[in-house]
Amino acid sequence: MQIFSGIAASPGIAMGRLCIIDRHHTVVSEYPIPSDAVSHEIARLARAIEDTRLELESLKSHLAETNGEDHLFFIETHLMILADERLVSEASEIIRTGLINAEGALRRTLHRYRETFARIDDPYLRERISDVETVIERVLRSMNGDVAEPLPQNDDLMIIAAHDFTPADMLQINRNHVLAIITEIGGRTSHTAILARALDLPAVMGVEGITDLLPDGIVVIVDGLSGTVTVDPDQETFQSALRRKQHYEYVESELLKFAPLPAVTRDGHQMHLRGNVEIPEEGASLLEHGGSGVGLYRTEMLFMNRPFMPDEEEQVQIYRSMQLAIAPHPLTIRTLDAGGDKLLEGMDHSAEANPALGARAIRLSLSMPEEFKKQLRAILRVSVDGPVRIMFPMISGMEEVRTAKALLEEAKRELTASGISFDSTVQVGIMIEIPAAVTLADLLAREVDFFSVGTNDLIQYTLAIDRSNEQLSHMYQPLHPAVLRSLRRIVQAAHGAGIPAGLCGEMAGEPLYLPVLLGLGFDELSMGAGSILRVKQILRRCTLERAARIAEGCFAFSTAAEVEMYLKSQITLDVAESID
Ligand code: PEP
Ligand code: MG
Repeated sequence: MQIFSGIAASPGIAMGRLCIIDRHHTVVSEYPIPSDAVSHEIARLARAIEDTRLELESLKSHLAETNGEDHLFFIETHLMILADERLVSEASEIIRTGLINAEGALRRTLHRYRETFARIDDPYLRERISDVETVIERVLRSMNGDVAEPLPQNDDLMIIAAHDFTPADMLQINRNHVLAIITEIGGRTSHTAILARALDLPAVMGVEGITDLLPDGIVVIVDGLSGTVTVDPDQETFQSALRRKQHYEYVESELLKFAPLPAVTRDGHQMHLRGNVEIPEEGASLLEHGGSGVGLYRTEMLFMNRPFMPDEEEQVQIYRSMQLAIAPHPLTIRTLDAGGDKLLEGMDHSAEANPALGARAIRLSLSMPEEFKKQLRAILRVSVDGPVRIMFPMISGMEEVRTAKALLEEAKRELTASGISFDSTVQVGIMIEIPAAVTLADLLAREVDFFSVGTNDLIQYTLAIDRSNEQLSHMYQPLHPAVLRSLRRIVQAAHGAGIPAGLCGEMAGEPLYLPVLLGLGFDELSMGAGSILRVKQILRRCTLERAARIAEGCFAFSTAAEVEMYLKSQITLDVAESID
């Protein structure tokens, strides 16, 4: 028996067999071949292409059966690339004239494609090279005899272990067969972790070397509460994990009693507790957990795993289904926040040395005004059916707000010209997640209807700590005095301008922080559905007056550790104990 420690990224306990996915890139060596081996190499190439095609076809039908038709676009594009005669003829020509092996020829063909694509003016088409790269990578793996599926699609229950697991990967897993996720890299606020929580999958991240050290098929216990992975457990350990799992599930079900109760303090102060959602199916679970609407809809998940952006009509349908699922509560739709660790198939993000500081979020949307307006029109169109709010991500200054709002006005004019109705008073808010926006909060507050603080990014940029870097996770400190001072300043600026201040980073879902956030004056917290009941329970035990004193008390300390110790001394968090 062996125990690995990592980051507790998504709660819950699961036991099962390990399925290791090797996500490292294929190593390809190029070597010379004699002229009489040319036809053999060309035949190997053709066979690998055919094998890859069959793999993709079977993956496509499996995905269609298990996860529906929504995420099939990317496979269809890959099949089209594979069917292109030029791929085979160029690589074969290189084998023939260069007298090199098929793998080397395929790599050289890819270089040529890269050069050709780099000369294309249209940025969207230029970025299609990422699809070509993915397809060629698959063919190369097939030649090496490696398992080429990006994700296992068999019907066994399994625990996935991977070096890295991207948000796009998360959206492709068969949720009925995956019990838990283990990764070697990634942190608690990475989008992969956020999705694991949204999908109710226990996850432990930052478990170094696990894919190299363990064999496929070995039994493990994943404890997403303590952040441990126990390998090959003995009988006693297995039984004790089972009891812990049952206890966790019992507490979760007992917490559901709080769902219908109002989110108010003992002295009658109301706080909106809303949900963060990524996929429409989460709407129902949000209501079940007593959330009063959506405070953050991460629409970028809808743009992933597909070669083309969804058109306006499709967006309307998806936003509407989310709206119906949570009616009559408000739906806060955040415009596309791609980039950083949320990579879209159709965009070449690889050229960026610092993706977290690169072309992402509102910057990306403003660089594609037609696509952006398409999204805005879609949001506006659903605004007639129920309360909708629009939220712009990663605002760094006034120009971005004004340009985004001007495009929103254009979108409204276009709808009016086409005779399509919308709510002309739709609320427009911004996310405060860049230190510059904190500094300018008083000015920005005059331009918008609400603020929502994205602490996941705000902490990252304030402390200069990559939110996805498991090595630095101990330095990623929500209670850092610099963060707390920023939060205080944001709320003061919002209230000074008469607008509400919300918070939708992962910090909102941590019960220990509730008294501080309440005491600082936040009007709304938005979090993963799984956190709402714990937070509501603590809220219902607090008074606003005491929370304000606790929040004030935090500013007497100069380190995150001191603040945390102070908070722990002030409140009891044992949720189970106070269940009637
Ligand atoms: C945040 O940064 O806190 C946030 C809510 O947005 P995201 O996690 O999607 O970047
Ligand atoms: Mg963010």
